[in-house]
Amino acid sequence: MLTPYLELRKQFENKQSSVVETVNNVLADIENRKNLNAFITVTGDLAIEQAKISQNRFDSGNPRELEGMILAIKDNISTKDIRTTCASKMLENYLPIYNATAVQRLLDAGVIIIGKTNMDEFAMGSSNENSYFGNVLNPLNNEYVPGGSSGGSSTAATAGFCHVSLGSETGGSVRQPASFTGIYGYKPSYGRISRYGLVAFASSLDQIGIFSQNLEDLSSVCDVITGVDENDSTSANLKPTVSKTHFNSEYSGLKVGYVSDEVLKNCTEYVRDKYRSDLNIMKDQGHELIEIPIHYAEAWIPTYYIIATAEASSNLARFDGVRFGFRPELKENEDIYVKTRSKGFGMEVKRRIMLGTYVLSSGFYDAYYRKAQQVRRKIADSYLATFDKVDFIYMPTTPGSAFKFGSRNGNPIKMYKADYYTASANLAGVPAINIPSGFDEDGMPFGMQVQCNNFDDEKMIGYAHYISKLIKS
Ligand code: GLN
Repeated sequence: MLTPYLELRKQFENKQSSVVETVNNVLADIENRKNLNAFITVTGDLAIEQAKISQNRFDSGNPRELEGMILAIKDNISTKDIRTTCASKMLENYLPIYNATAVQRLLDAGVIIIGKTNMDEFAMGSSNENSYFGNVLNPLNNEYVPGGSSGGSSTAATAGFCHVSLGSETGGSVRQPASFTGIYGYKPSYGRISRYGLVAFASSLDQIGIFSQNLEDLSSVCDVITGVDENDSTSANLKPTVSKTHFNSEYSGLKVGYVSDEVLKNCTEYVRDKYRSDLNIMKDQGHELIEIPIHYAEAWIPTYYIIATAEASSNLARFDGVRFGFRPELKENEDIYVKTRSKGFGMEVKRRIMLGTYVLSSGFYDAYYRKAQQVRRKIADSYLATFDKVDFIYMPTTPGSAFKFGSRNGNPIKMYKADYYTASANLAGVPAINIPSGFDEDGMPFGMQVQCNNFDDEKMIGYAHYISKLIKS
């Protein structure tokens, strides 16, 4: 068991624990549980080198903000000179020449990088069954998926291979695996964390997100990586968050938005029951429950999958075998573009590229892509109007708990439905966070999410902290 960072930091400061020893123990744990396949690359030598620097800093009394914190990073986030594969054959040997802004800020604050985590190829998936490097197992029960696409990052945080891990969210890829592995998973407001160095899937939806077993460590990382970045023109012109200050707030008379039975009809019974009991606890504390009108719930998934695949088909056009990445052996007259992409991409990525190309093609653009953009605007407007009436929305993160390997991957539509409760926050751009809530009859966890108005990320982390305590007690 890895001690939470803020507690461990005190031990480092008092010389009760050594940074190098801690890192060695974590590396041994990763080796012992290699079967989880949480990492594509373990950066052991680098981690030990960084641990020595951190130890010196503690010894000489000048530790930085996150000195000695152990961090895992999803393999679609650029790390200078550390292989960044996006779990694809296409980028199997790709070495970025720069760090993502989030990574650079964390390195400057003194973190130790333990490795790059496994994921669904190019972040497309909900179960981590789409990786060129093999499935990631749920550390709580290896027969179940850990969720996706950031399944390696959620597994690494749950198994205690790091204090905090970075993932990415386009339609739920942080919150959903956090729900399936019983930890916190935060998706920021669009623009709150720089996307510079995050390999693009669907640029108008993508955000880097954060996992941890505890909110204090999560918020420490949040406060370091948020804030405007001149390298990302879509980053919001805001200072970094100061989410820690919201932790000890005493809340009374909160207006809690909840969803109707109609929206809950896709849930399993145990999620629905726990949801209602969580709401009752809030009511007993004197908070006001307000049913929120959700007009377009049936359009969340189709709208997301049209926009995400359209943007993906355009973003992934750069992988052509010419500029970087995989290039196959070519026989005379063979088309480099066709052969590179046929052999370099996996099934799901090809499916997305074909879908995206179709919805953008001249005959279908109006019927699909333009229509999806219009519906997205309506979804966003209805979300934003809701926050005039409530402080936050509380709703399930996933319809149920983790499912078994192989149970959905023959049926893409069934798989896509795993994102039912998550995709809308990405479409609207609002912040959302998974908090662990309950367990099914087999002891597998599931979570609920708190969603707030755009750029209320700090407040949201405070609410999540408060609600978490309430629903656990
Ligand atoms: N499961 C969703 C998809 O496959 C979400 C992916 C993500 O958030 N990166 O598109």
